[in-house]
Amino acid sequence: MYFEDLTQFSYLKFLHPKDLPPNLLNIGWLDQEHDFPKKKTDSKILEIIKKMILTERSLNMTRGFHFCEFCEIIHPEDGCHMPVELECNGENLFLGSGIIIVQCKTHSYAFPNLMHHYISEHNYKPPDVFIQDIMLYNL
Ligand SMILES: [Zn+2]
Repeated sequence: MYFEDLTQFSYLKFLHPKDLPPNLLNIGWLDQEHDFPKKKTDSKILEIIKKMILTERSLNMTRGFHFCEFCEIIHPEDGCHMPVELECNGENLFLGSGIIIVQCKTHSYAFPNLMHHYISEHNYKPPDVFIQDIMLYNL
């Protein structure tokens, strides 16, 4: 699923717009067909995003896990695709099934929790306005 960064979020059409913050923008919806900006991101950004994944409102995607399209994690025994994992306080959390909704100072953003992996493993660089906004996020 691909959405251009900073476009209006409209994926979950069954949700009433009143249930979502106004001016909710898409961030980090990547796929293989669209190029995305790359740059090594400050580890502080990853820390903040991890915190958001753990504490902010998370909506479930309707179609189960979305696997990373840029790498293939195959289970060594059964050959099936494995979801991306994120280590949190000694436990592994599976990424790819949640959309994080976060309200920041200038805008609100909707991003797949897989974005943490896109940044850490594929050097995806989110738009500057998003980075500036989340740097003010209270950790
Ligand atoms: Zn990947």
